[in-house]
Amino acid sequence: KPDLELVSLVKRYGETVAVDGISYHFDAGTYACLLGPSGCGKSSTLRMIAGHESVSDGAVLLGGRDVSHLPPAKRGTAMMFQNYALFPHLSVRDNVAFSLKMQGTDATTRKSRANEMLELVDMLPLADRLPAQLSGGQQQRAALARALITKPEVLLLDEPLSALDPFLRIKMRAELRKLQRELGITFIHVTHGQDEALALADEIVVMNNARIEQAGATRTVFEAP
Ligand code: ADP
Ligand code: ADP
Repeated sequence: KPDLELVSLVKRYGETVAVDGISYHFDAGTYACLLGPSGCGKSSTLRMIAGHESVSDGAVLLGGRDVSHLPPAKRGTAMMFQNYALFPHLSVRDNVAFSLKMQGTDATTRKSRANEMLELVDMLPLADRLPAQLSGGQQQRAALARALITKPEVLLLDEPLSALDPFLRIKMRAELRKLQRELGITFIHVTHGQDEALALADEIVVMNNARIEQAGATRTVFEAP
């Protein structure tokens, strides 16, 4: 599995410098949290890794290969969004299979791959429902299945638990962690919650003012003076 490396990564929006030259090496298979206050550049960093936002300067390397200018679907990354962004008129199964349809995969293969992913997140019995017929936690599982169907090496999660009630949030932490261990792929999880990062992460990258303020194994980051 490939390591992920950020090399002097910069994001500018006009005059605003949202990400100011950050460098970091994520070992393959790590669960990393990107932690910091609102506006510090976490989402911009994640979106540059995913390819949903262009890189102003620097590079994103996956397995040593510069993927900075590849389209999102060709990077080996997948992203799960804050609001899950499920298509309201498509069944859960069709939502999950959506990217395969875009790739031109045939219907039989789409259905079996989607079912496999839904099984993984314990959602197979709800495959024929519409998103509006799901609870928040179920929508989140569907969104996870949809992101994972492309078999990414790196899963990017932007505040994945923020829409859930506190009880479910704690439960889903454990599920995310379990899923990451099972798959053995890299998870990069953006959060502004220190307790969330502490509970989940192997390593934590603390951002502030568009830069990395502190980073390392979870224990060392919070034990520092
Ligand atoms: P965070 O995820 O940590 O809240 P963001 O990456 O969303 O931070 O934002 C970092 C900075 O960049 C903020 O000042 C924000 O207002 C600005 N920003 C983010 N996206 C855009 C955009 N599309 N256009 C202009 N400014 C943006
Ligand atoms: P988050 O809470 O995840 O940091 P925001 O709610 O700040 O994200 O931003 C949501 C969307 O609005 C993003 O697509 C981001 O690019 C855009 N955005 C954020 N800040 C600005 C800004 N100052 N100007 C224009 N677009 C922005």
